[in-house]
Amino acid sequence: MTAQLIDGNALSRQLRTDIAVRAAALKARGVTPGLAVILVGEDPASAVYVRNKIKACNETGIHSVFEKYDAMLSEADLLTRIKALNDDPSIHGILVQMPLPKHIHPQRVIETISTAKDVDGYSVQSAGDLMAGLPGFRPCTPYGCMKLIETTGINLKGKHAVVIGRSNTVGKPMALLLLQANATVTICHSGTPDIGAFTRQADVVVAAVGRRNVLTANMVKPGAVVIDVGMNRNDEGKLCGDVDFAGVKEVAGWITPVPGGVGPMTITMLMVNTLEAAERR
Ligand code: NAP
Repeated sequence: MTAQLIDGNALSRQLRTDIAVRAAALKARGVTPGLAVILVGEDPASAVYVRNKIKACNETGIHSVFEKYDAMLSEADLLTRIKALNDDPSIHGILVQMPLPKHIHPQRVIETISTAKDVDGYSVQSAGDLMAGLPGFRPCTPYGCMKLIETTGINLKGKHAVVIGRSNTVGKPMALLLLQANATVTICHSGTPDIGAFTRQADVVVAAVGRRNVLTANMVKPGAVVIDVGMNRNDEGKLCGDVDFAGVKEVAGWITPVPGGVGPMTITMLMVNTLEAAERR
Protein backbone atom coordinates (compact mmCIF):
# COMPACT_ATOMS: atom_id res chain seq x y z
CA MET A 1 0.00 0.00 0.00
CA THR A 2 1.20 3.53 -0.71
CA ALA A 3 0.16 6.15 1.82
CA GLN A 4 -1.77 9.27 0.89
CA LEU A 5 0.25 12.42 1.34
CA ILE A 6 -1.00 14.98 3.88
CA ASP A 7 -0.03 18.22 2.17
CA GLY A 8 0.87 20.89 4.74
CA ASN A 9 1.52 23.49 2.04
CA ALA A 10 -1.95 23.06 0.53
CA LEU A 11 -3.68 23.12 3.93
CA SER A 12 -1.66 26.20 4.91
CA ARG A 13 -2.70 28.04 1.76
CA GLN A 14 -6.35 27.23 2.46
CA LEU A 15 -6.14 28.32 6.12
CA ARG A 16 -4.19 31.48 5.26
CA THR A 17 -6.89 32.50 2.78
CA ASP A 18 -9.44 32.13 5.57
CA ILE A 19 -7.24 34.11 7.99
CA ALA A 20 -6.89 36.93 5.42
CA VAL A 21 -10.70 37.14 5.10
CA ARG A 22 -11.14 37.26 8.89
CA ALA A 23 -8.32 39.81 9.28
CA ALA A 24 -9.94 42.05 6.64
CA ALA A 25 -13.30 41.81 8.44
CA LEU A 26 -11.62 42.81 11.68
CA LYS A 27 -9.82 45.68 9.96
CA ALA A 28 -13.16 46.92 8.62
CA ARG A 29 -14.27 47.14 12.27
CA GLY A 30 -11.19 49.24 13.10
CA VAL A 31 -8.86 46.56 14.49
CA THR A 32 -5.78 45.47 12.55
CA PRO A 33 -4.33 42.28 14.04
CA GLY A 34 -0.71 42.90 15.04
CA LEU A 35 2.18 40.57 15.80
CA ALA A 36 5.50 41.66 17.33
CA VAL A 37 8.43 39.40 16.49
CA ILE A 38 11.61 39.77 18.53
CA LEU A 39 14.95 38.32 17.46
CA VAL A 40 18.00 38.54 19.69
CA GLY A 41 21.39 37.68 18.18
CA GLU A 42 22.57 36.39 14.84
CA ASP A 43 21.48 32.72 14.66
CA PRO A 44 21.01 32.16 10.89
CA ALA A 45 18.25 29.52 11.28
CA SER A 46 16.31 31.87 13.60
CA ALA A 47 16.65 34.67 11.05
CA VAL A 48 15.04 32.41 8.40
CA TYR A 49 12.17 31.41 10.74
CA VAL A 50 11.53 35.05 11.61
CA ARG A 51 11.56 36.07 7.95
CA ASN A 52 9.00 33.36 7.12
CA LYS A 53 6.75 34.48 9.98
CA ILE A 54 6.82 38.10 8.82
CA LYS A 55 6.13 36.95 5.24
CA ALA A 56 3.10 35.00 6.49
CA CYS A 57 1.86 38.14 8.29
CA ASN A 58 2.13 40.12 5.04
CA GLU A 59 0.23 37.41 3.16
CA THR A 60 -2.64 37.32 5.65
CA GLY A 61 -3.08 41.04 6.36
CA ILE A 62 -1.60 40.86 9.85
CA HIS A 63 0.47 43.90 10.80
CA SER A 64 3.95 42.84 11.92
CA VAL A 65 6.54 44.68 13.96
CA PHE A 66 10.02 43.20 13.78
CA GLU A 67 12.52 44.07 16.48
CA LYS A 68 16.08 42.81 16.12
CA TYR A 69 18.56 43.16 18.95
CA ASP A 70 22.26 42.56 19.38
CA ALA A 71 23.23 39.28 21.12
CA MET A 72 24.57 41.40 24.02
CA LEU A 73 21.10 42.75 24.88
CA SER A 74 20.55 42.33 28.61
CA GLU A 75 17.69 40.23 29.94
CA ALA A 76 16.39 43.27 31.85
CA ASP A 77 16.23 45.34 28.66
CA LEU A 78 14.44 42.54 26.81
CA LEU A 79 11.87 42.21 29.61
CA THR A 80 11.32 45.98 29.59
CA ARG A 81 10.67 45.87 25.85
CA ILE A 82 8.20 42.98 26.23
CA LYS A 83 6.32 44.86 28.96
CA ALA A 84 5.98 47.85 26.63
CA LEU A 85 4.56 45.57 23.92
CA ASN A 86 2.15 44.07 26.50
CA ASP A 87 0.77 47.60 26.95
CA ASP A 88 0.67 48.43 23.22
CA PRO A 89 -2.95 48.14 21.98
CA SER A 90 -1.85 47.75 18.33
CA ILE A 91 -0.01 44.50 19.20
CA HIS A 92 -2.13 41.38 19.83
CA GLY A 93 0.58 38.72 19.78
CA ILE A 94 4.22 38.70 20.94
CA LEU A 95 6.72 36.15 19.72
CA VAL A 96 10.28 35.94 20.99
CA GLN A 97 12.28 33.70 18.67
CA MET A 98 14.08 30.87 20.45
CA PRO A 99 16.84 30.03 21.18
CA LEU A 100 17.96 33.10 23.10
CA PRO A 101 21.59 33.91 23.98
CA LYS A 102 22.75 31.92 27.03
CA HIS A 103 22.67 34.85 29.47
CA ILE A 104 18.89 35.26 28.95
CA HIS A 105 16.57 32.87 30.78
CA PRO A 106 13.98 31.71 28.20
CA GLN A 107 11.18 30.86 30.66
CA ARG A 108 11.52 34.25 32.41
CA VAL A 109 11.08 35.87 29.00
CA ILE A 110 8.07 33.73 28.11
CA GLU A 111 6.42 34.39 31.48
CA THR A 112 6.78 38.15 30.93
CA ILE A 113 4.59 38.02 27.83
CA SER A 114 0.99 38.79 28.78
CA THR A 115 -1.14 35.60 28.63
CA ALA A 116 -3.53 37.42 26.28
CA LYS A 117 -0.63 37.89 23.81
CA ASP A 118 1.14 34.53 24.28
CA VAL A 119 0.45 33.39 20.71
CA ASP A 120 3.24 30.77 20.87
CA GLY A 121 1.36 29.16 23.77
CA TYR A 122 4.58 28.47 25.71
CA SER A 123 3.75 30.09 29.06
CA VAL A 124 2.91 28.07 32.15
CA GLN A 125 -0.56 29.66 32.10
CA SER A 126 -1.16 28.55 28.47
CA ALA A 127 0.15 25.05 29.28
CA GLY A 128 -2.17 24.91 32.30
CA ASP A 129 -5.13 26.05 30.21
CA LEU A 130 -4.44 23.25 27.74
CA MET A 131 -4.10 20.68 30.50
CA ALA A 132 -7.34 21.83 32.14
CA GLY A 133 -9.19 21.95 28.82
CA LEU A 134 -9.74 25.72 29.15
CA PRO A 135 -9.64 28.15 26.23
CA GLY A 136 -6.18 29.55 25.53
CA PHE A 137 -3.43 29.55 22.94
CA ARG A 138 -2.27 26.12 21.84
CA PRO A 139 1.42 25.75 20.89
CA CYS A 140 1.58 26.21 17.12
CA THR A 141 3.34 22.98 16.07
CA PRO A 142 1.05 20.47 17.83
CA TYR A 143 -1.97 22.62 16.96
CA GLY A 144 -0.91 22.39 13.30
CA CYS A 145 -0.44 18.61 13.61
CA MET A 146 -4.04 18.30 14.83
CA LYS A 147 -5.23 20.22 11.76
CA LEU A 148 -3.20 17.89 9.52
CA ILE A 149 -4.72 14.82 11.21
CA GLU A 150 -8.20 16.35 10.77
CA THR A 151 -7.75 16.36 6.98
CA THR A 152 -7.67 12.55 6.97
CA GLY A 153 -11.28 12.52 8.20
CA ILE A 154 -10.36 9.98 10.87
CA ASN A 155 -12.32 10.29 14.11
CA LEU A 156 -9.72 10.07 16.89
CA LYS A 157 -12.22 8.83 19.48
CA GLY A 158 -10.96 5.51 20.80
CA LYS A 159 -7.98 5.44 18.46
CA HIS A 160 -4.52 4.70 19.83
CA ALA A 161 -2.13 7.61 19.27
CA VAL A 162 1.58 7.36 20.04
CA VAL A 163 3.69 10.50 20.43
CA ILE A 164 7.46 10.03 20.26
CA GLY A 165 9.10 12.90 22.16
CA ARG A 166 8.02 14.73 25.30
CA SER A 167 9.26 18.32 24.96
CA ASN A 168 7.19 21.10 26.53
CA THR A 169 6.73 22.76 23.14
CA VAL A 170 5.82 19.75 20.97
CA GLY A 171 5.53 16.26 22.52
CA LYS A 172 3.60 17.03 25.73
CA PRO A 173 1.07 19.49 24.25
CA MET A 174 0.63 17.12 21.28
CA ALA A 175 -0.30 14.31 23.66
CA LEU A 176 -2.76 16.58 25.51
CA LEU A 177 -4.44 17.69 22.27
CA LEU A 178 -4.83 14.06 21.15
CA LEU A 179 -6.23 13.19 24.58
CA GLN A 180 -8.67 16.09 24.31
CA ALA A 181 -9.81 14.58 20.99
CA ASN A 182 -10.56 11.34 22.89
CA ALA A 183 -7.65 9.29 21.57
CA THR A 184 -5.93 6.80 23.86
CA VAL A 185 -2.46 8.28 24.12
CA THR A 186 0.98 6.81 24.75
CA ILE A 187 4.09 8.99 25.05
CA CYS A 188 7.48 7.47 24.17
CA HIS A 189 10.83 9.14 24.87
CA SER A 190 14.55 8.47 25.11
CA GLY A 191 13.96 6.13 28.06
CA THR A 192 11.41 3.94 26.24
CA PRO A 193 13.15 0.60 25.54
CA ASP A 194 11.12 -0.71 22.58
CA ILE A 195 9.25 2.11 20.84
CA GLY A 196 8.17 -0.20 18.01
CA ALA A 197 6.15 -2.30 20.46
CA PHE A 198 3.94 0.78 20.99
CA THR A 199 3.92 2.26 17.49
CA ARG A 200 2.98 -1.08 15.89
CA GLN A 201 -0.35 -0.82 17.78
CA ALA A 202 -0.89 2.84 16.91
CA ASP A 203 -3.54 4.27 14.59
CA VAL A 204 -1.72 7.61 14.73
CA VAL A 205 2.00 8.20 15.28
CA VAL A 206 3.52 11.65 15.80
CA ALA A 207 7.31 11.67 15.70
CA ALA A 208 8.87 14.73 17.41
CA VAL A 209 12.42 13.77 18.31
CA GLY A 210 14.99 15.44 16.05
CA ARG A 211 16.72 12.22 14.91
CA ARG A 212 16.53 10.56 11.52
CA ASN A 213 14.86 7.15 11.14
CA VAL A 214 13.27 7.12 14.59
CA LEU A 215 10.27 5.52 12.88
CA THR A 216 10.86 2.84 10.24
CA ALA A 217 8.43 0.74 8.19
CA ASN A 218 8.62 -2.28 10.52
CA MET A 219 7.40 -0.06 13.40
CA VAL A 220 4.17 1.06 11.69
CA LYS A 221 0.71 -0.54 11.66
CA PRO A 222 -0.66 -0.81 8.12
CA GLY A 223 -2.97 2.14 7.36
CA ALA A 224 -1.77 4.32 10.26
CA VAL A 225 -1.59 8.13 10.13
CA VAL A 226 2.04 9.25 10.45
CA ILE A 227 2.91 12.87 11.30
CA ASP A 228 6.58 13.79 11.07
CA VAL A 229 7.55 16.85 13.11
CA GLY A 230 11.31 16.28 12.99
CA MET A 231 13.68 18.58 11.13
CA ASN A 232 17.04 17.02 10.41
CA ARG A 233 19.62 16.94 7.62
CA ASN A 234 20.41 13.79 5.66
CA ASP A 235 23.89 12.79 4.44
CA GLU A 236 23.46 15.04 1.39
CA GLY A 237 22.57 17.97 3.65
CA LYS A 238 18.92 17.94 2.60
CA LEU A 239 16.10 18.62 5.06
CA CYS A 240 14.47 15.41 6.33
CA GLY A 241 12.25 14.33 9.19
CA ASP A 242 12.36 11.70 11.93
CA VAL A 243 10.49 9.19 9.79
CA ASP A 244 12.05 6.92 7.15
CA PHE A 245 9.67 8.38 4.58
CA ALA A 246 10.52 6.01 1.69
CA GLY A 247 9.88 2.90 3.78
CA VAL A 248 6.99 4.11 5.95
CA LYS A 249 4.92 5.45 3.03
CA GLU A 250 4.59 1.85 1.81
CA VAL A 251 2.90 0.81 5.07
CA ALA A 252 1.09 3.87 6.45
CA GLY A 253 -2.33 5.06 5.25
CA TRP A 254 -1.43 8.75 5.53
CA ILE A 255 1.89 10.51 5.93
CA THR A 256 3.26 14.07 6.10
CA PRO A 257 6.34 14.88 4.02
CA VAL A 258 9.38 16.85 5.19
CA PRO A 259 9.55 19.53 3.94
CA GLY A 260 5.96 20.52 3.15
CA GLY A 261 4.17 18.89 6.08
CA VAL A 262 4.26 20.21 9.64
CA GLY A 263 6.66 23.13 8.96
CA PRO A 264 4.28 25.45 7.05
CA MET A 265 1.47 24.59 9.46
CA THR A 266 3.47 25.82 12.46
CA ILE A 267 3.66 29.30 10.97
CA THR A 268 0.03 29.19 9.83
CA MET A 269 -1.17 28.37 13.35
CA LEU A 270 0.84 31.33 14.64
CA MET A 271 -1.25 33.49 12.29
CA VAL A 272 -4.44 31.79 13.56
CA ASN A 273 -3.47 32.45 17.19
CA THR A 274 -2.61 36.10 16.43
CA LEU A 275 -5.89 36.63 14.63
CA GLU A 276 -7.80 35.03 17.50
CA ALA A 277 -5.93 37.21 20.00
CA ALA A 278 -7.13 40.27 18.06
CA GLU A 279 -10.68 38.90 17.74
CA ARG A 280 -10.86 38.22 21.50
CA ARG A 281 -9.80 41.77 22.18
P1 NAP B 1 13.54 18.41 21.99
O1 NAP B 1 13.15 19.46 22.94
O2 NAP B 1 14.98 18.11 21.77
O3 NAP B 1 12.80 17.05 22.42
C1 NAP B 1 13.08 15.85 21.78
C2 NAP B 1 12.36 14.73 22.48
O4 NAP B 1 12.72 13.51 21.82
C3 NAP B 1 12.72 14.56 23.93
O5 NAP B 1 11.55 14.36 24.68
C4 NAP B 1 13.61 13.33 23.96
O6 NAP B 1 13.43 12.50 25.09
C5 NAP B 1 13.09 12.55 22.79
N1 NAP B 1 14.11 11.66 22.25
C6 NAP B 1 15.42 11.91 22.04
N2 NAP B 1 16.02 10.82 21.51
C7 NAP B 1 15.08 9.87 21.41
C8 NAP B 1 15.09 8.55 20.95
N3 NAP B 1 16.18 7.98 20.49
N4 NAP B 1 13.93 7.85 20.99
C9 NAP B 1 12.80 8.42 21.47
N5 NAP B 1 12.73 9.68 21.91
C10 NAP B 1 13.86 10.39 21.88
O7 NAP B 1 12.94 18.69 20.54
P2 NAP B 1 11.56 19.41 20.09
O8 NAP B 1 11.67 20.87 20.27
O9 NAP B 1 10.42 18.69 20.68
O10 NAP B 1 11.61 19.11 18.54
C11 NAP B 1 11.64 17.80 18.02
C12 NAP B 1 11.94 17.86 16.54
O11 NAP B 1 10.92 18.59 15.90
C13 NAP B 1 13.23 18.59 16.17
O12 NAP B 1 13.78 18.01 15.01
C14 NAP B 1 12.77 19.98 15.84
O13 NAP B 1 13.64 20.66 14.96
C15 NAP B 1 11.46 19.69 15.17
N6 NAP B 1 10.49 20.77 15.21
C16 NAP B 1 9.89 21.07 14.04
C17 NAP B 1 8.95 22.07 14.00
C18 NAP B 1 8.29 22.36 12.70
O14 NAP B 1 7.63 23.39 12.60
N7 NAP B 1 8.39 21.51 11.71
C19 NAP B 1 8.61 22.77 15.17
C20 NAP B 1 9.21 22.41 16.36
C21 NAP B 1 10.15 21.40 16.37
P3 NAP B 1 13.87 12.92 26.57
O15 NAP B 1 12.84 13.86 27.03
O16 NAP B 1 13.86 11.63 27.28
O17 NAP B 1 15.23 13.54 26.43
